[in-house]
Amino acid sequence: MTEIQGGSDLPANLLEAVPDGKYYRLYGNKFFCSAAHADYSVVTAKISGSNKVSTFIVPSWLPGDKEKEKRNGYEINRIKWKLGTCELPTGEIQYNGALAYPIGPKDKGIAVAVGIVLALSRLEIGIACAGFMLRASREANLYSDFRTVFGKKVKEYPLAASKLKRIENAAQRTTAAAFKIYDLFLRLEKPLNPGIHSDQPIEIRKQLFNLRELVLLQKICATNEGAEILREAISVFAGHGVMEEFSSLPRIFRDVVVNEQWEGPRNLLLTQIYRDLQRVSDWYSPEDFVSSVLKGAPKETVRQFSTELQDLLQRPVLGEVSEASIEAAVEWDQFCDQFFKAYQEAALAEIE
Ligand SMILES: Cc1cc2nc3c(=O)[nH]c(=O)nc-3n(C[C@H](O)[C@H](O)[C@H](O)COP(=O)(O)OP(=O)(O)OC[C@H]3O[C@@H](n4cnc5c(N)ncnc54)[C@H](O)[C@@H]3O)c2cc1C
Repeated sequence: MTEIQGGSDLPANLLEAVPDGKYYRLYGNKFFCSAAHADYSVVTAKISGSNKVSTFIVPSWLPGDKEKEKRNGYEINRIKWKLGTCELPTGEIQYNGALAYPIGPKDKGIAVAVGIVLALSRLEIGIACAGFMLRASREANLYSDFRTVFGKKVKEYPLAASKLKRIENAAQRTTAAAFKIYDLFLRLEKPLNPGIHSDQPIEIRKQLFNLRELVLLQKICATNEGAEILREAISVFAGHGVMEEFSSLPRIFRDVVVNEQWEGPRNLLLTQIYRDLQRVSDWYSPEDFVSSVLKGAPKETVRQFSTELQDLLQRPVLGEVSEASIEAAVEWDQFCDQFFKAYQEAALAEIE
């Protein structure tokens, strides 16, 4: 999807899909292509003469060509040198007439890419963060039970014990919420979709909307807290925590920072959540949304978040830059973190 001039701005895609019989030929450049070694890619492009994005499946090799190492009309310009996820090759690709098969409705490529491809990978980022934090918690606990400083185990100091407790709580909250969201994903029919249709029963629409927003909230909150938790766990080890040959934590720390940026960076998703809530307000009120997502949380918590959300939706969070909009933006950012934390706490309480 990503091209150099646009990034998050997918409507700014320039890559052209030129009709060739039933199929298309792609011409142009993609600036971030992960799993550059894959046999198939999902690629967004504009069909000649259209200003809207469509989606295509592009095989890396046409039948019989893989053995000959003859690519399907594209070149990998370079493999990027990046901070994390280093075992996954991310390349820049130049398409010079690659054969492409259209998928999904023509000109609805953004809905297909966001509602199906990105939604799934954002969900998986949340699950990955739970795994990262559980590992950080286990390793920090084990190390602090093994290493002695000034005659006592690291974990026997209240300053260390408090940090271990914080790391463990974050790991457990994140994991409980990841499973709760995944459970909703499994229970819904067609949870990955290019949009929520108005002909569906209202309760199903609300559940699909809850899933969509929870996946976005989890993506930004679990990656943000994940980076803090990994840094905290590294600090329990101190020097050994930053030694690549001794600990996996530096690698996981770098991976979590990448997870925060790809598949939609924080501010883009904060904007998306805000717009979504405004868009559905005629059939799903903010109060109804908060009480549905925080089902099982204390009544007072639900009331507070509900009042705060109603207020924020009236404020200039997405307006032009001013004192008032900066203040509203800060509060919106904090609201999303706290609201998702309340969801995580309710998920953890259910298990406990
Ligand atoms: C390692 C790695 C692998 C990747 N692999 C792929 C891949 O396989 N396929 C693919 O398509 N992409 C891939 N990406 C690209 C990634 O998804 C983009 O980096 C991301 O979508 C953001 O685009 P950008 O980097 O151009 O940032 P920009 O879109 O230029 O964003 C810059 C800043 O503007 C903010 N911003 C953007 N839009 C808004 C808005 N509407 N409101 C407020 N703020 C906004 C962002 O939050 C950010 O802070 C990969 C990225 C990385 C780091």
